[in-house]
Amino acid sequence: MTETPRHAPPFYCPYCGEENIRPHGEESSGYRCGSCLRVWNLRLIGTITTENQEATS
Ligand SMILES: [Zn+2]
Repeated sequence: MTETPRHAPPFYCPYCGEENIRPHGEESSGYRCGSCLRVWNLRLIGTITTENQEATS
């Protein structure tokens, strides 16, 4: 089953900035960094429109 389309893999670790990233685990959004050894999840929250960008909560 395909819940969400697979995103493009990230180029850099968001924590240490290294490029030593590999997929991790069963989920397509899981990655691990071989440099800082962090395991993290890249997940899409949603989208916004430019018209709504100035909206305040
Ligand atoms: Zn890292």
